[in-house]
Amino acid sequence: MSEFDVAVIGAGPAGSSAAIRLAQNGMNVLLVERGDPPGTKNVSGAVLWGNELAKVVPDWERSAPVERYVTRKEVAFLTEKSKIAISFSSEELQNSKSGKIIVRGKFDQWLAKKAKDAGAMLVTGVTVDRLAIDNGKVIGIQQDNDVITADAVVVAEGANPRVLINSGLRPKLSDRDVALGIKETIKLPENVINERFNVDSKSGFASEFVLGFLDDGLLSGGFLYTNKDTVSLGIVASLDRLRANGVTHSYDIMGKFEEHPFIKNLIKDGIPDEYAAHLVPEGGISSMPKLYGNGYLVAGDAAAFTFSNGMVLQGINYAITSGILAADTIIENRNNINENTLAKYVDKLRESYVLSDLYNFNGIQNVTWSDFVQKSLPTLAESVMMSLFDEKGMPKKHLRQIVTDAMKSGHMKYSDLITNGYRVIKRM
Ligand SMILES: Cc1cc2nc3c(=O)[nH]c(=O)nc-3n(C[C@H](O)[C@H](O)[C@H](O)COP(=O)(O)OP(=O)(O)OC[C@H]3O[C@@H](n4cnc5c(N)ncnc54)[C@H](O)[C@@H]3O)c2cc1C
Repeated sequence: MSEFDVAVIGAGPAGSSAAIRLAQNGMNVLLVERGDPPGTKNVSGAVLWGNELAKVVPDWERSAPVERYVTRKEVAFLTEKSKIAISFSSEELQNSKSGKIIVRGKFDQWLAKKAKDAGAMLVTGVTVDRLAIDNGKVIGIQQDNDVITADAVVVAEGANPRVLINSGLRPKLSDRDVALGIKETIKLPENVINERFNVDSKSGFASEFVLGFLDDGLLSGGFLYTNKDTVSLGIVASLDRLRANGVTHSYDIMGKFEEHPFIKNLIKDGIPDEYAAHLVPEGGISSMPKLYGNGYLVAGDAAAFTFSNGMVLQGINYAITSGILAADTIIENRNNINENTLAKYVDKLRESYVLSDLYNFNGIQNVTWSDFVQKSLPTLAESVMMSLFDEKGMPKKHLRQIVTDAMKSGHMKYSDLITNGYRVIKRM
């Protein structure tokens, strides 16, 4: 007989959600986290999109450490000197509370405590080395020579899946599987944030940026989110381009982003508080490991469940949902855990948005991480906007002529614009 019904590796959103659901259903759960307390090893912007949290903590609004709710969302292209943005503000967005701005250090600790309150045993400061496997069946978790047995294991170890790799259950990561996320937290008084971002003490601003202006062949996106009395500023940069470039450091890119004329003023007089880096799954289904096996399931970033299309970066909601579905699969098959019964996890993921989004948007990274979206399109838009809005006291041109001139100066052909534009619209 095993020591636990289920062992969960990692108390991030995926692992803690799985543990809560399992414990709420009377299962004997061990939740192991290498950080002490949970959250200390985690990096996100972060906006928790969607309302999945209510499925594990129905009264989350009473105690969840939400900094602000997104009421103003922006998507912007930055060139060296300009910003071309789509901005959306809505009371409806505020009322739906679907964009919860959180700080992971506080949020993960809170969610792991909910797992403990539900009855799970939470062990922190312990790094699991590998899965314990006997005759092809996962029988628990292992650190050094110590094995803790469990009938099933949920692997929710995040974007750097050392346990899966060490256990021979997935290949090593390549530069195409993950991007590099860098985040700085900058302290600003609450009233300054409210004034600067035109929000009140509950509402918040979230923006994603396309950062084609960073030269040296790099491709990257940025984000800025307003917390209560800090601002989260960060970058997600393609790892293969960063490595090919060979000379640019992550802090060079971050420094350049901070110095951009339209960012500089937003963080003026802010005091840097934290600086961190973390991997972000970017490869989509081509990076996905096998999601189940005899005695184990994989959830969250460890399963490459993130969605990013340049307008949103989402992973926490996918982590929570996949953690819940992993737990449900185990609960429904609690008396008969084997590879066949755990395979039903994939059906559940397919029925949810988790796998359908990944399949529907397969290959989107080839569009969002393309020179067209990152560089050509913003430069063209900048050129058109300058012709439209920079009044020079000359006869006005028709829009068609302005676009044609801008394309000529950017060495772009109409056929390129149509082909690439169609690819972007089709994929997005
Ligand atoms: C810079 C950046 C910004 C982001 N912004 C957003 C955002 O705004 N919104 C959004 O939805 N997503 C965002 N993401 C993605 C989001 O952070 C992830 O998708 C999400 O955290 C995945 O949750 P998870 O539980 O699967 O993994 P994680 O949150 O990584 O949790 C895994 C946990 O497992 C622990 N662990 C790992 N290995 C072991 C081990 N061997 N033994 C014990 N414990 C272990 C870790 O310490 C960690 O606590 C961002 C990511 C980055 C890097």
